[in-house]
Amino acid sequence: MNLRIGIIGGSIAGCITANTLQQMGCNVEIFERSATPLQSRGAGIIIPLDLFEQFKAEHLFDHNIQCHKIPSRSFFIKNTQHSQNGECIWQQNVTAISFHWSELFANLRRRIANEHYHSGVEVTDIDIKDEKTTQLTF
Ligand SMILES: Cc1cc2nc3c(=O)[nH]c(=O)nc-3n(C[C@H](O)[C@H](O)[C@H](O)COP(=O)(O)OP(=O)(O)OC[C@H]3O[C@@H](n4cnc5c(N)ncnc54)[C@H](O)[C@@H]3O)c2cc1C
Repeated sequence: MNLRIGIIGGSIAGCITANTLQQMGCNVEIFERSATPLQSRGAGIIIPLDLFEQFKAEHLFDHNIQCHKIPSRSFFIKNTQHSQNGECIWQQNVTAISFHWSELFANLRRRIANEHYHSGVEVTDIDIKDEKTTQLTF
């Protein structure tokens, strides 16, 4: 496709978009406002199993990326007579994969060459000049 594409934000969404576009033959530049390495957060990122398999097949993740499969999840209500953990009122079958934020991000980030990932660059304005030209202000 040979398009030149700028991506604003170099976290998970920005990196996976960049990786996909690179595979399609686009020239991608990422602009990330944070000058320091992005930090881990939250309890984990969960995606459906079939999406995980698709991303692995497309080499967006390492084949041995650290993650764990979630086959089901249980919902409990308080009921100490039933058991110390309460009473399980529903067990939902799920087929999902859970990642640690940093592991997922590291996998996506290392697929983008440093010269195309611009840290500490905040986009402050986007001016669409015409169909072929867009100007970013940093
Ligand atoms: C405390 C906390 C806990 C969380 N816990 C969970 C969780 O358990 N599970 C879960 O799935 N999600 C959780 N999240 C949400 C989590 O942020 C997202 O899942 C994930 O990081 C989203 O990735 P993203 O790429 O869409 O957005 P973000 O990670 O928010 O990335 C956006 C990026 O764009 C950059 N940016 C923004 N504006 C500009 C600009 N003008 N110019 C240049 N760069 C710019 C930002 O610096 C940032 O790095 C949590 C978030 C927080 C804050």
